[in-house]
Amino acid sequence: MKIAEIHIYAVPLPVVNGPYTMANAEVYALDSTLVKVVTDTGLTGWGETCPVGPTYQPHHALGARAALQQMASGLIGKDPSLFTQLHRTMNSLLNGHAYAKAAIDIAAHDLTGKHYGVGVCDLLGGAVTNNVPSYYATGVGQPDDIARIAAEKKLQGFPRLQIKVGGRPVDLDIETVRKVWEATGPDIRLAVDANRGWSTRDVLRFTRECTDIPVILEQPCNTIDEIAAIRSQCRHAIYLDESADSLNTVVQSVSSGVCDGFGMKVTRIGGLAPFKTFRDICEARSLHHTCDDAWGGDIIAAACTHMGSTVDSRLMEGVWIAAPYIESHYDPVGIHIQQGHIQLPEGPGLGVEPEESLLPAPELSVT
Ligand SMILES: [Mg+2]
Repeated sequence: MKIAEIHIYAVPLPVVNGPYTMANAEVYALDSTLVKVVTDTGLTGWGETCPVGPTYQPHHALGARAALQQMASGLIGKDPSLFTQLHRTMNSLLNGHAYAKAAIDIAAHDLTGKHYGVGVCDLLGGAVTNNVPSYYATGVGQPDDIARIAAEKKLQGFPRLQIKVGGRPVDLDIETVRKVWEATGPDIRLAVDANRGWSTRDVLRFTRECTDIPVILEQPCNTIDEIAAIRSQCRHAIYLDESADSLNTVVQSVSSGVCDGFGMKVTRIGGLAPFKTFRDICEARSLHHTCDDAWGGDIIAAACTHMGSTVDSRLMEGVWIAAPYIESHYDPVGIHIQQGHIQLPEGPGLGVEPEESLLPAPELSVT
């Protein structure tokens, strides 16, 4: 099986009741990139990468498509089922840009699953569940509003909530988390995500004033160095998200003990093959982690759900998908959250197939 064609699409994903607000960004619509890879055996596989705006991570929608354009002709003739060799080829064609390479990696897994007649989860080691836990992330908002949303989401069956904070006085963040805790109680896991938006002073204030609230702090500060500086004074577990931008950083962070877990994104780490390595590193050290992406449509959601289904359930923090926040699905069925969980898609490969009539014409096709 060889790659015969690569088609690159720009697909807009409008945000429901936008904007979605984080410490460093307001998001009204996303610019997603889809990749269709066709083989000489007539199979079609799909990949996707979708930065959540230009300030969340050093990823850019136009940069993703430029990177894919840079690599596309060099991937023609390669076997998509040989994941390690495929990544080496991509690395020989372009330095960095893991989030763009992830789209090819996801399409390669889709193709390989279809080639062997198995789900992508089987290529990743096998699912431990077909009802994959998700979590809900609130935006940054007023304390009473976020507490109300948190109570609603608990009733809907979410096993975990992530409360967005940062980008404003920490007093308001502390009040928000306290009201959420009062509204939800202990029967749901809580994460507080500042998206790099807290100073070390803010973290110290939060952790001193909220020692009674059992939350984890996700990516509180901008850098690993800042987190390391106050780590020993923190009374809460700390996860890295945006800073965990490569397997090398993950290995360093695990070795230094700077974190207790990760929020991890499939595209940031470079796709499903490197995520599988990440998952196994975490399992070797009993570190908890999520299995998400920053944003994206049904393809990203399916890839995250397949990956998440394979994570040891004692370490699984959930699969976040953008489905509740975006207006459209390009797969006729789409990936959805029900009672706080996502049904593992059936069928060979990813189990989703974009309706091509819903997509714009490709921006680039290479054969
Ligand atoms: Mg996060």
